[in-house]
Amino acid sequence: MIDTVVTVTVSLLLIAAVVVPYWLRVRRKENQARNRFEKLKISGLNAATSMHPHIDALACIGCGGCVEACPEGDVLGVINGKATLVHGAKCIGHGLCAEACPVGAISLVMAPPGRSANLPVISKDFETNIPNLFIAGELGGIGLIKNAIIQGRHAVETVAKRRGPRDGILDLLIVGAGPAGLSAGLTAMEQGLRYAILEQGDIGGTILQYPRRKLVLTSPVELPVWGRLKFTEITKEKLLGVWGEVVRETGLLVQTQEKMLELQRFNDLFRIVSSKDEYVARHVILALGRRGTPRKLGVPGEALPKVMYRLLDAESYQNLNLLIVGGGDSAVEAAIALAIQKTNRVTLSYRQREFGRVKARNLEHLSEQVRKKRIHLALGTVVQEIRSDLVLLSTADGQRQLPNDYVFVSVGGETPFDQLKNLGIDFHRQGIEDQASAA
Ligand SMILES: Cc1cc2nc3c(=O)[nH]c(=O)nc-3n(C[C@H](O)[C@H](O)[C@H](O)COP(=O)(O)OP(=O)(O)OC[C@H]3O[C@@H](n4cnc5c(N)ncnc54)[C@H](O)[C@@H]3O)c2cc1C
Repeated sequence: MIDTVVTVTVSLLLIAAVVVPYWLRVRRKENQARNRFEKLKISGLNAATSMHPHIDALACIGCGGCVEACPEGDVLGVINGKATLVHGAKCIGHGLCAEACPVGAISLVMAPPGRSANLPVISKDFETNIPNLFIAGELGGIGLIKNAIIQGRHAVETVAKRRGPRDGILDLLIVGAGPAGLSAGLTAMEQGLRYAILEQGDIGGTILQYPRRKLVLTSPVELPVWGRLKFTEITKEKLLGVWGEVVRETGLLVQTQEKMLELQRFNDLFRIVSSKDEYVARHVILALGRRGTPRKLGVPGEALPKVMYRLLDAESYQNLNLLIVGGGDSAVEAAIALAIQKTNRVTLSYRQREFGRVKARNLEHLSEQVRKKRIHLALGTVVQEIRSDLVLLSTADGQRQLPNDYVFVSVGGETPFDQLKNLGIDFHRQGIEDQASAA
């Protein structure tokens, strides 16, 4: 009898020795995820802005496989025994979480309209409802560098089958020199098409806006003319170096700092007006991405690499002097997201004396951060100049100098979608998830 009691007790102790630490670890991770979720909710960063996992809570068994699989680190967490989107804004749609889920509880979907934007209707060859007008890359709703490269190539292969007479008219005008536009341009070269690529900024697209030293994860992919891009992990800086090399060595022509302003259809052709010139083309590929054209301040020093127009990952900015410029929800949300990181010194500069168009909830959180002295409000101020280590603000009392590591400008801009709608391109109303699942 005593033997049995001893055996049972020892067994229970052994089981407890394994189970209790496991349970404590699960509880600790769950608490961390919950805290992160609550913190990110304040600035709206819990919600996704593009492709992201949708978790079927009934099917989810809370194993955490998806959390471990995410290469971005902290997009998902397990809360109350279910996988939860914790840092949705950081998700870029790798989809490894869906692959890792043992019960198929995760599907990839697009963010709801309003948080991202609508999705244009495109054919399997990436053509819109306007004949010979194509959309490639993330603008069409599917993210990731590899997808953009494949789509850019595929769209041009379709164009090449329809090429017209050699009469001086461009076979193809490509707008955007991110991965989709560059791949489209290389395919146009390979196919011997008469092409032009217009890029409003510099070569690289959204990659240029990634946080410094961001590790880019991708799959090997064939780049027309150049060959295979073999890496699976590469830093932002090295990837931009590779793009530069590709452009130099292939002789691809990219007209940078040239923005497409207008696109009109006439007599089965397109007339494109840019910030520098006018073009006529038989086919157009819009590889504009989804991030639009931010309005600029137009002050000296704005071209410095420390000036950003979008906050992509608040957690990469810690213990820094930061200036946010603007008075709308995005500026306020960025200021809050940066203020709740460790030991940042955040100033929010707005030219008006009060916020007129900010959601009540954001104003509440802003006041809280101001009260805690985590955000310094510089109302009625205008940025005059940005230098490598400081910014100059003009105030009612004269000029003020602030030490500065980064400037985030959030003063509005255009989304690409208004332009597409004006062109008469059809958009999905609700079919967002259809497209995502077709990826
Ligand atoms: C923070 C972050 C991290 C990411 N990390 C990864 C990762 O690790 N791996 C991965 O595969 N993907 C990642 N992505 C996603 C990836 O960057 C995008 O899916 C990809 O860049 C889309 O390529 P694109 O060519 O369609 O568009 P973009 O790269 O957005 O390029 C569009 C280009 O069009 C130009 N343009 C827009 N309008 C005009 C106009 N009117 N006239 C002229 N030019 C115009 C823009 O200036 C821009 O250069 C990440 C995204 C973000 C935001």
